[in-house]
Amino acid sequence: MTILLDGKTLSTKILIDLAGRISAQNAKPKLAVIMVGDNPASQIYVKLKEKRAKAVGIEPLVLPLDKNISQNALLEHIDILNEDPAINAILVQMPLPEHIDAEQIVSRISPFKDVDGFNPINVGNLVSGSTPYAVPCTPLGIIKLLNEYKITIAEKNAVIIGRSNIVGKPMAQMLLDRNATVTICHSKTKNLKSFTQNADIIVSATGSPKLITADMIKQNAVIIDVGVSKLENGKICGDVDFENVSYLAGAITPNPGGVGPMTIAMLLENTFRLYSQQTK
Ligand code: NAD
Repeated sequence: MTILLDGKTLSTKILIDLAGRISAQNAKPKLAVIMVGDNPASQIYVKLKEKRAKAVGIEPLVLPLDKNISQNALLEHIDILNEDPAINAILVQMPLPEHIDAEQIVSRISPFKDVDGFNPINVGNLVSGSTPYAVPCTPLGIIKLLNEYKITIAEKNAVIIGRSNIVGKPMAQMLLDRNATVTICHSKTKNLKSFTQNADIIVSATGSPKLITADMIKQNAVIIDVGVSKLENGKICGDVDFENVSYLAGAITPNPGGVGPMTIAMLLENTFRLYSQQTK
């Protein structure tokens, strides 16, 4: 029988536990969210983060900034938040407008307040095996989900599709750290199927709707669908052809209801982690 990796239920459990810890310590963690422009998807994501943060006792501070803001002006906002002792965690909602150099922006966030774990110091610590101040939320949520369902990672062949700094690369590192044999595929990979067919664990993070079909996986593989695409009919679709793949898979994330809620839960866990590091 296929196991449904229910991120919605697990994230609710995690958030209830987190709210309990925050309340027990009478803690007042504060998360700043910078949102540049009026991307409708970003607005929805930020509203959701704001709502969930409030629900667990984290104070969100959303900074909506004009889409034409200059690189320097945006850097100044980050500097102010870095210096503000009342702010424990900083998130810059992606994507940023094209004229903005996102890498420079992310690098400017203090590693101590870098809730997404994207600052080069935190990335370097993750890769070198030191402890980062925070670890990227989406791969961290996936590891928690695999652990919750007691899915063994060590000695497994893990294939990650997508090589972004946000998902693919940190995911690869985190699976490698847990002794999986990791292959990273991407848009220039030839014959993707030849890799996925040998995979015990597949993490697909491409935004390419229904890229992963039943003929591409082996029986009982664990399938993690990170992708979120909006189809022409307005429907949201993942990277995995869930209907057909779920028959063969040993375990699979629903999408929605799998990776998405875990990502938000990890964002709030990371906020409290940074708060605790700063106040201990
Ligand atoms: P990205 O655009 O930065 O990277 C996409 C990657 O997929 C690239 O490395 C590219 O080479 C690869 N790719 C694209 N099409 C491919 C194909 N046909 N075959 C093989 N590889 C292909 O995206 P990202 O920020 O990593 O996000 C990926 C997807 O995951 C998006 O749909 C995004 O919305 C979603 N996402 C979801 C969550 C969540 O919490 N659910 C979090 C982050 C990202």
